[in-house]
Amino acid sequence: MECRENCGACCIVPSISSAIPGLPNGKVAGERCIHLQDDYCCAIFTHPERPLVCAGFKAEKLFCGSKQSDAFKILSDLEGIEVVPGI
Ligand code: SF4
Ligand code: SF4
Repeated sequence: MECRENCGACCIVPSISSAIPGLPNGKVAGERCIHLQDDYCCAIFTHPERPLVCAGFKAEKLFCGSKQSDAFKILSDLEGIEVVPGI
């Protein structure tokens, strides 16, 4: 599937353990990445220091569901936390 516009769940819900520019220790689950813009696009999408894990995350129905709230629920369940859209 194509990555959905105005979603950003995968840049908020999962923890990222690798360094992100400006976040040397990555981010914890449920923390909005500092590079996720208001339009839910990544500000460093083409930056060479964008984490490999970001580039490796591909939109799949299994994780992304059919709408933003699905992705938040699915990814939250995988992380064992509750994160809702609006962060
Ligand atoms: S959760 Fe899926 S649809 Fe949403 S931004 Fe990430 S890859 Fe795209
Ligand atoms: S670096 Fe970009 S793709 Fe990776 S979590 Fe942050 S906003 Fe998302």
